[in-house]
Amino acid sequence: MLDCAIIGGGPAGLTAGLYATRGGLKNVTLFEMGVPGGQITKSSEIENYPGFFDSTKTGLDFMDTWQKQCFNFGLKHEMQKVESINKTGEYFTITLEGGNTVEAMTVIVSTGAVPRRAHFKGEDEFYGRGVSTCAICDGFFYKDKPVTVLGGGDTALEEAYFLSNICSDVYVVHRRDTFRAAPPTIDRAERKENIHFVLDSVIEESVGDAMGLSGVDIRNVKTNEITHMDNTGLFVFVGQDVKNDVLKDENDDFICKMSESGQVIVDLSMKTSVPGLFVAGDLRIEAPKQVVSAAGDGSIAALQVISYIQEQQ
Ligand code: FAD
Ligand code: NAP
Repeated sequence: MLDCAIIGGGPAGLTAGLYATRGGLKNVTLFEMGVPGGQITKSSEIENYPGFFDSTKTGLDFMDTWQKQCFNFGLKHEMQKVESINKTGEYFTITLEGGNTVEAMTVIVSTGAVPRRAHFKGEDEFYGRGVSTCAICDGFFYKDKPVTVLGGGDTALEEAYFLSNICSDVYVVHRRDTFRAAPPTIDRAERKENIHFVLDSVIEESVGDAMGLSGVDIRNVKTNEITHMDNTGLFVFVGQDVKNDVLKDENDDFICKMSESGQVIVDLSMKTSVPGLFVAGDLRIEAPKQVVSAAGDGSIAALQVISYIQEQQ
């Protein structure tokens, strides 16, 4: 029986593991289906985490030191995908991919979010073959070539800036004429001479053949005029969808109270509506979607887990 099962090894889950084990819990396992680190490992930069200020380092570099520190006090890692969580009586049963189960007194769910699809024609067909959601991973394939970026938030403009240092030109296609990104991020992109803005526009279709993407059709939403762009990679940054599937039961109903948009309702202690079940990071309601706040949530959830276990004994 685990003292605590942590599902998801991004900033929230890793920090929860650090606090739970350093706080004295002996039997804590982090179930992470990939390499721990979370979404930020896909970022080309991080400049708003206090204490870390190095513009040459990527999100992957940034998370590197977290591994060492968070596993230093006895946190175990199982590279496993969790399928579901059930509370039967006092304890939780965690079902892993493949069907094995593990019992735990408490659970912290920190499964975060994944990139959202924009749903234009050809997006799925060319995903991974010219359509990408990771500039660090795929930007180099377009060295000295033009690329198109879709979106107008922080991710789109930060990644457009990263791509502008590798690619010949970056065309940022955004459906409105004002951006959602933070003002300094907009300002920096606007000052870069090889970033060009294609506003009031969307991707109508990504086109190509068996070799992959060859170009995109861009539609101006005001005039409906279509412009074709050849020989471009397409990077889609239109937001994230929370990963809440582990909280569904066999009838597809959520085991705890959720918001209409699929985030978990928690209080300031990261407690859900189910005693012993905590949620931290981007998955919770009103998450600021920042590494620093995900880490903060993780620490709060772990401290609450320690109190909960003490109260039960
Ligand atoms: P995540 O980081 O999403 O981690 C969740 C983890 O859970 C993942 O590793 C996933 O593999 C795992 N998981 C999911 N489902 C399962 C399952 N069923 N079983 C096992 N494991 C599972 N924030 C900033 O503060 N500054 C920035 O500069 C910044 N830049 C960003 C750039 C990009 C490109 C992106 C995408 C995000 C950026 N963010 C930034 C936001 C930040 O990365 C997130 O807010 C933060 O990572 C959320 O942490 P989390 O632990 O809640 O979830
Ligand atoms: P976001 O803030 O939700 O922005 C998504 C962008 O994509 C918006 O500009 C949106 O347009 C556009 N969009 C959405 N659906 C679209 C579609 N179907 N077709 C075309 N365009 C579409 O997402 P994000 O940029 O990934 O950021 C997610 C969260 O992480 C935010 O809270 C953000 O602040 C945070 N984050 C922070 C940092 C940082 O702190 N440095 C970096 C990255 C991310 P509209 O504007 O018209 O809605």
